Amino acid sequence: MLTAFVLLACAVYIGTKHAIKNSKLGISIIQLFVVGIITCVAYTFAIATKDVRQSEMGYAVYFAGVDWILITFVFYARQYTKIWLDNYASPLITTTIAVLDNISLFTNYKWHHAFTLEKRELPTTEWFYGFKIHDYYYVHLIFCYILVAIIIAILFKKTIQTSGFHRNRYFAILVMFIGIILLNVLYLFFDFPVDVSICFYAVAAIFVGYYSILYNPKTFVEYMLTTITERMDCALISFDENDTCIYSNQFANRMFCPTGDKRVFEERFRKWKEGRESNSIANTSWNEVYNINGDEYRFDIHFNKIYDKKGYYCGCYMSFYDVTGDFIAYEEEKYRNSHDALTGALNREAFFEEVKAILHENIGVEYVMVCCNIKGFKLVNDMFGAEEADRLLIRCAEVIREKIQPGATYARLESDKFAILLPKSRYTEELFYTGMNQVSNFLNNAQYRMVILMGVYEIYDRDAPVISMVDGAFLAIDSIKNNYKNSIAYYGDMLRREYLSEQKIVGEFEEALQTGQFAMFLQPVVNMDKKVALAEALVRWIHPDRGIIAPISFIPLLEKTGYIYKLDMYIWEQAVKRLAYWASMGHDDISISVNISVKDFYYVDLYECLVGLVEKYNVPPERLKLEITETIFMTEKERQLEIINSLKEYGFLIEIDDFGSGYSSLNMLKEVPADILKMDMAFLSMDGNANKGRKIVNTIIALAKALDMLVVIEGVETQEQVDYLVGTGADYLQGYYFDKPLPVKRFEETYLL
Ligand code: C2E
Ligand code: CA
Ligand code: CA
Repeated sequence: MLTAFVLLACAVYIGTKHAIKNSKLGISIIQLFVVGIITCVAYTFAIATKDVRQSEMGYAVYFAGVDWILITFVFYARQYTKIWLDNYASPLITTTIAVLDNISLFTNYKWHHAFTLEKRELPTTEWFYGFKIHDYYYVHLIFCYILVAIIIAILFKKTIQTSGFHRNRYFAILVMFIGIILLNVLYLFFDFPVDVSICFYAVAAIFVGYYSILYNPKTFVEYMLTTITERMDCALISFDENDTCIYSNQFANRMFCPTGDKRVFEERFRKWKEGRESNSIANTSWNEVYNINGDEYRFDIHFNKIYDKKGYYCGCYMSFYDVTGDFIAYEEEKYRNSHDALTGALNREAFFEEVKAILHENIGVEYVMVCCNIKGFKLVNDMFGAEEADRLLIRCAEVIREKIQPGATYARLESDKFAILLPKSRYTEELFYTGMNQVSNFLNNAQYRMVILMGVYEIYDRDAPVISMVDGAFLAIDSIKNNYKNSIAYYGDMLRREYLSEQKIVGEFEEALQTGQFAMFLQPVVNMDKKVALAEALVRWIHPDRGIIAPISFIPLLEKTGYIYKLDMYIWEQAVKRLAYWASMGHDDISISVNISVKDFYYVDLYECLVGLVEKYNVPPERLKLEITETIFMTEKERQLEIINSLKEYGFLIEIDDFGSGYSSLNMLKEVPADILKMDMAFLSMDGNANKGRKIVNTIIALAKALDMLVVIEGVETQEQVDYLVGTGADYLQGYYFDKPLPVKRFEETYLL
């Protein structure tokens, strides 16, 4: 009973504390204990009762219990050792045999084929029921001993195979198990009065519980920890309370002390502590560069103190993580992100940052921004090839690097554009002219003379955006872009005023559009009978302070900044509205041409917008003529052509404006399905070689006719021009000779009455 009680206590302890955590192993132990308890109780009952039937039942349960103890022990041994021996201990077979054996044992009271009871006298006057074996009992016994053999085999195998650290765990269980079996053998075969092995079940339970779950060999943990620290990818050095080095791992020895003499560490530690109040040195970490055998290493270092449970200082350790690789990678990444890969100059963003910092940190120093640009760099690419062009850029960067000293900085902003910030006191034209000559001599040959243009911007307002300083310098370059030798220009007062007025225009634009400061003017286009058949919509800015501003002052700027589409959409709507109004007045024979900028192709869905307008005001699309110029061919030609084709298909008429002003006019003719060709007299100076000019006009008109196009000649200013044009086959004429662009009201009063 006592044994059963101890088993129960163990079961409860393990059950509550560990079984849940250790899952299968814990469950197997609990099962083992429960079966053990039942077996113990049954045996105690069998020898305690004086009733033969009850005792017989007790023995049956006891024998059956032994079957289940052994089966659960096999299960436990497998979980414990992770050795399966499936061929010998298949759970299905063993359980089936056990069930059959149990049936045999429980039916024994009927046939007494396994055992019978007989009274046993004790040395005292007491007696109890013992049992006597019959044939069938041997079946039970053989089954039990097979299980015993399996258990011993499993434990034995594990004991041999495991490392020295763990052998004890398995060996102890093995010895305990064999001990109990020996006691049992004694009882069975040497006629011991009672089964003393039962009493040792409790001892076994404690063994099993302890070794399976609680036991954790200290030496093993120590071994593991030292191995781990030895192999760690960082240097570890530990000191006791007297700063004696008690441990350093391989990494540390390799790095700092190949001889392995721990005093080296102590000396270094002492030096590190020097000047620090040792009590006040707290746990810290920092980065430090060490020179080891000529190589530079960067370490991430951690210093940690260790206290015992009561809070007394007992030692410390330092760990050194080698972050050299990370650091180099970080530096390289930083460099890549801030520098131009080709020339090694700063890139645009980094340069802007750097300029801001320099201007901020050197308040007393005056600076200039110098930008340079190789004239016709594209030509260099075409003539000499990309490789040579690259070498030229590298040369540029080299020369700049040589010329500017510390305290200045430079960048390649984009392709052939460089920018330099340097103190005004160091700037001289001579310095830059020699630099430019050094670069331009690099490529000059008989056919090509390289020209570098340079713009200088003096920085007055150091808080202004850096971009405006660079813009200023480039604006200066723009003013000399027609020079054919190396030149320097300055962003002077005039340039500055222009720049500011541009800024002003952009700043005022939105509000002007909203408050109706933009007006559509109409210039009549007449047919050869001098009848007005058409009008061109031309915008005017009616500025409240500055009066009427001509498009030349704001259209290029709005195109540059991308706002043009807003203005154009506004004018297109005005035009369509007017067409609708005229139609309602009975003038449905007159159409309007509107200008379309190349930027419009990018900022609006032209098809949706224009179709939307004519549908909204119910105007036939052929009454709105769309003027496009060959600048639309400069980028994404295919895309633009697709849009034009769809507009043409819808019914709009397409006009090629300013025919002959650029270099791709003939291409335009070939590819754009235009209805009208528009040519400006101004492109054909009629005074110098009038004869030739006329021949050209005649030929172009003939060409347009051959392509089924109507021809508009614009810029017609004189009677003489008109006289000549009458005979050329041109269809329409436009120009000051007939009328200037007029406010809509004036146009209507003059031509629509
Ligand atoms: P453009 O499309 O070639 O327009 C013709 C220009 O020639 C107009 O200048 C017109 O006033 C001018 N002109 C007319 N007859 C004569 C003449 O006999 N002799 C001379 N020398 N010039 C004449 P404007 O109105 O100053 O427009 C200049 C340019 O601005 C236009 O050239 C056009 O490209 C652009 N533009 C005007 N309005 C708009 C608009 O609403 N949207 C867009 N995107 N561009 C526009
Ligand atoms: Ca036009
Ligand atoms: Ca034109």
